[in-house]
Amino acid sequence: MMDERMKNIIASHEKEFEAVSDKIWDFAEYRFVEFKSAELQAKFLEERGFTVTRRLGGMETAFKAEWGETGPVIGFLGEFDALPGLSQKADCAEETPVEKGACGHGCGHHLLGTGCMEAACALAEYLRETGRPGRIVYFGCPAEESGAGKAFMAREHCFDGVDFCLAWHPNTYNGLMARSLANARVIFKFTGKAAHAAAMPEKGRSALDSCEIMSVGVNYLREHVPTDVRMHYAYLDVGGTAPNVVQPHAAVLYALRAPESDQVQEVYERVCDVAKGAALICGTSVEEQVVSAYASTLLPAALRDLAYACVKESAAEVSYTREEIEYAKKFVAAGSQPDAKEPIVTGVEDPAAAKMGGSTDVGDVSWLVPTVGVYTTTYAAGTVMHGWTAVAQGRSSIAKKGMHTAARAMSRIALALLDDEKLRQRVRADFETAKAGRVYKTLIPDSMKPGMF
Ligand SMILES: [Zn+2]
Repeated sequence: MMDERMKNIIASHEKEFEAVSDKIWDFAEYRFVEFKSAELQAKFLEERGFTVTRRLGGMETAFKAEWGETGPVIGFLGEFDALPGLSQKADCAEETPVEKGACGHGCGHHLLGTGCMEAACALAEYLRETGRPGRIVYFGCPAEESGAGKAFMAREHCFDGVDFCLAWHPNTYNGLMARSLANARVIFKFTGKAAHAAAMPEKGRSALDSCEIMSVGVNYLREHVPTDVRMHYAYLDVGGTAPNVVQPHAAVLYALRAPESDQVQEVYERVCDVAKGAALICGTSVEEQVVSAYASTLLPAALRDLAYACVKESAAEVSYTREEIEYAKKFVAAGSQPDAKEPIVTGVEDPAAAKMGGSTDVGDVSWLVPTVGVYTTTYAAGTVMHGWTAVAQGRSSIAKKGMHTAARAMSRIALALLDDEKLRQRVRADFETAKAGRVYKTLIPDSMKPGMF
């Protein structure tokens, strides 16, 4: 059971955090240039007695805010980056950009970072009032989307000295961030020779042909990789728009995913061979560059069980008004599950049933520090994450309730860890068991600096 005092602390500050979350939704800043969002959070925490270190790990928008003198160190992994091309009018169930082509918070990171701050501030206030030991570090982590900000922070040892890390992510249901795929993003750049495609095609060497043949090769490869491997791609450069010129340059970005990082490494090497083969066929050359990489998520059993209990207790405290249910129904109709029975999912998914989904750089931290993340319901059932409907719902009372639920769940987890030395020992032992002797190493090469891509 959560201390009533902690619950009251969270309830009494809700509006302050809702205002921060709304502002960051308005800022909607792209990866690595989240200047206004990061500064807003850093200032907010400074004003509440946290000691802030800016430009953490040499990244302009990474920072940490620390509180407390003694006791175990609890880290919170905050985010604030938005997604390109997703500008959308709030609360509007029809696609209506505020500014065409601008960014929008399609993954709810405005709630994510703010909810982590809400838990960190509540915990600090609680520890101050009760005089209990405990130290808190809020990490402002840039560029979760495609930038793997936390992998770069891990490379710079930003998480050293932290005992446990807590995170959450907005979602269409409550649960745990129990599984995520390791992921490497690689650019393949082909260089050929331009020539007039009708007058002297024999002189040309097509970089675009190379990309297409590479895709054919990768599609044959699909049969011969583990079942859970995902390989998807997008063209970054098609070499031009004139069909009568042999395209001398072209580039394709691959996302290579698998349950484990070593499987991604293996698939990456095979895809590189396919690219080399495509270059050989076309008489072009190819260069590959890993631009970001995400590790899989490691979840120690004792931390999973604790977090599951805490998210269940927190989710059970939420109720919705008739207006909120009507609001959600509008978005259910626009989502991927228009026949959903429950417009707002109130239950909690059993972590044993968690499906493999996307990737997150929380995974990288999870190999260095025992880490757990929770999901809470912030969007209508079937809302497509990274879509405009998620952006539209980002300022709703449902989204904000989800943020407060996450703050309560994370505070519960933190308090349980701070209160119980035996539990901390169990989590540490389970962390070692989960690692099974494997050592974390990012696939990002040392030459790659944050934001270069
Ligand atoms: Zn996200």
